[in-house]
Amino acid sequence: MKTIDTNRRNFMKKAGSSLIAAAAGSSLAMSAIKAHATQSAVTQTKQTQGATTPQKALQMLKEGNTRFVQGNMLKRDLMQQVKATGSGQFPYAAIVGCMDSRASNELIFDQGIGDIFSARIAGNFVDDEILGSLEFACAAAGAKLILVLGHTECGAVKGACDDVVLANLTMTLANLKTAVKAVPGYDSDRTSKNKKFVQAVADKNVVLTVDRIRERSPILRGMVDKGQIGLAGAMYDVHSGKVTFM
Ligand SMILES: [Zn+2]
Repeated sequence: MKTIDTNRRNFMKKAGSSLIAAAAGSSLAMSAIKAHATQSAVTQTKQTQGATTPQKALQMLKEGNTRFVQGNMLKRDLMQQVKATGSGQFPYAAIVGCMDSRASNELIFDQGIGDIFSARIAGNFVDDEILGSLEFACAAAGAKLILVLGHTECGAVKGACDDVVLANLTMTLANLKTAVKAVPGYDSDRTSKNKKFVQAVADKNVVLTVDRIRERSPILRGMVDKGQIGLAGAMYDVHSGKVTFM
């Protein structure tokens, strides 16, 4: 009996110390979370850009969107970043996104001044001008990643599905027709009233845009093949704020 009692006491002591250790661990974890919440942003320099790999650039965007969704944005002195980047910019990524007011690249990826190039156009497609801009971003200005970002509830995609005709917009939407045609099925309703069809076209448009960057820019294709830059697609959900990487 004595032995058992002693064992039990020892066990209780051990259990107690484990509980204390667990409590200490969780309070450490809590302070780590608090420290993270008030972490300051790093302004990109030639050195930080040079040290960023395509994989790391993608990771930085993923982490930025997680911070955005969690309301954990980095502390940023934007005017200090203006001063620091005034004589030179060293962004680590270029994003082709839609002009949609809900899909601001800098906001949804928690980025500051001088962090990313943003090419925004209704329907996030690429034409010669956007391709030239991406070539500048990567081949001249050192960005390590191109991200093509579509979004849910895209008005441009809906317009393309409905064959909207409106002045110059008709030509803009013509760039999305390949994606509309490339989505099979949905024969009962291939208009913007069919949300699933619209989303399938938006997804296809991102895939085709990634392909088109490779096909139509030998410079960028070469950089991707050599591992100098990354090329990826993603979808932003305007309801949740979350970006899903493809
Ligand atoms: Zn859009």
